[in-house]
Amino acid sequence: MTVANQKGGVGKTTTAVNIAAAMADAGLRVLVVDMDPQGNASTALSIPHASGTTGIYDVLIDGVPLADVVVESPHVPGLFGAPATIDLAGAEIELVPLVARENRLRRALTTFLQSRPEGRGFDLVLIDCPPSLGLLTVNSFVAADEVLIPIQCEYYALEGLSQLVKNVELIQQHLNAGLRISTILLTMYDARTRLSAEVAQQVREHFGDRVLRAAIPRSVRISEAPSHGETVITYDPTSTGALSYVEAAAQMRQQEVSV
Ligand code: ADP
Ligand code: MG
Repeated sequence: MTVANQKGGVGKTTTAVNIAAAMADAGLRVLVVDMDPQGNASTALSIPHASGTTGIYDVLIDGVPLADVVVESPHVPGLFGAPATIDLAGAEIELVPLVARENRLRRALTTFLQSRPEGRGFDLVLIDCPPSLGLLTVNSFVAADEVLIPIQCEYYALEGLSQLVKNVELIQQHLNAGLRISTILLTMYDARTRLSAEVAQQVREHFGDRVLRAAIPRSVRISEAPSHGETVITYDPTSTGALSYVEAAAQMRQQEVSV
């Protein structure tokens, strides 16, 4: 599943790492693939990603096996990550002339998942996209079956969404027929404002039951957690932010059963 929205700062990375941690806490084995050169997901999972560290850049450009870069997060057993270094910024350009440039992540993931020893497989792979619609995001869409779109409950929230939907449709037509937008998560929801309620209503009208009932509130604890190299799930497990991500993850597991 890939977490995408070409807008920056809407909660993609926060959602990817916290849903991943909540799923791992519930007993699943989860892999987070960091496809953003900023490496924010790697930071939140305490996975080393200083420039020069072998990471997703090497997987995409030099064909290094994913198995060589995947590391377990020290805070949550069963939660693993493939780090992004700042070198990944160059990959956007370096991918252009390469053979099968849109399929590089998919190939690496398929090889990796197929070669997992008994009992060491993964139940869920979450890919954290950069805030753009370039080749890194295209690789993420081609590698995934499902798209999770976090939508920030603010003015302009819906702007750009039709472009995102259109791009997913283009990927479906040309590169990955199996891709679908399965899940929408409302983030930075403020129950006190009419704006949040209005955005939520519009999103629900448009996407129906693909919108998770759980909405993620704006929470200082959520934004503090990454500076401690943690997700809010371990940083402050009883905070409203942590509980809302746990609830969203539970709804995603039910969603899967009912599909
Ligand atoms: P993106 O990956 O889409 O760019 P991030 O997940 O990095 O967005 O979030 C952008 C900023 O907002 C980060 O500083 C993050 O800590 C903060 N943030 C995300 N979700 C919340 C939330 N629910 N409450 C408060 N701050 C949040
Ligand atoms: Mg991000």
